Amino acid sequence: MSDVIIDVQNVSKAFGGVKANTDVSMQVRRGGITGLIGPNGSGKTTLFNSIVGYHPIDGGSIRFEGQEISRMKVQQIARLGLLRTFQQTRIYGAMNCVENMLISLPHRKMSLWDALKTNTREDYEKADQLLDFVGLYEKRYLMSGDLSFGQQKLLEFAMALMNEPTCLLLDEPTAGINPTLINGLIDRLKRANEEFGITLFVIEHNMRVIMNLAESIYCLAHGQMLAHGSPDDIQNNQDVIDAYLGAH
Ligand code: ADP
Ligand code: MG
Repeated sequence: MSDVIIDVQNVSKAFGGVKANTDVSMQVRRGGITGLIGPNGSGKTTLFNSIVGYHPIDGGSIRFEGQEISRMKVQQIARLGLLRTFQQTRIYGAMNCVENMLISLPHRKMSLWDALKTNTREDYEKADQLLDFVGLYEKRYLMSGDLSFGQQKLLEFAMALMNEPTCLLLDEPTAGINPTLINGLIDRLKRANEEFGITLFVIEHNMRVIMNLAESIYCLAHGQMLAHGSPDDIQNNQDVIDAYLGAH
């Protein structure tokens, strides 16, 4: 098996006249934690959307485990084991945490009620275990709309794990979360990587978080790949520093 799990080569994507990604190339290492940083509007979410098949790309190649996926649809790519979470959480506020976990299983997406009826005892046990893993076990029967924003992010992470992904893309997992929960989330992300063996590819705006988390970091600016290196390389890269300073 190749060491590279996601291989992006020369990917471009424009929206009308806006070149969101231009000739972007990068690799995600199997079993590792790769980071993606860049100022707001630099094309990070667009790259994620292209990888998971949310929209077609204008040019280039995207391979997952050696297989070209750039013309596949979201569900097809999800079945291969490649999943993403969103910058805005996507949970059903009027359902409790366990119910949200159960309907996140892709093959259960018929009607919501049919979906809940078809779940097995194993599904319920897995939901409980993963809610425990993210620290929400005590709150599992609370309406998820009543959780804090940070807790909703943890729930969304647990929902993604419910599908047992090989590789998980996380879009700004710590955005809007208080510092205590951020540390808890970083810890869970690392454990999901180490204990469950899930490859992580994380967009993060918080420099402290990504330096702590990722072994390899890419930086986008104006839709183009500006830099790639270890956390140390990136922290001391003058182009990266300028891109961030110039953005504020
Ligand atoms: P980031 O996630 O780094 O903040 P995005 O990938 O969301 O950046 O956006 C990159 C650029 O593409 C921005 O100029 C944004 O306005 C534009 N863009 C993103 N998605 C769309 C879309 N669906 N339609 C039109 N423009 C878009
Ligand atoms: Mg974004």
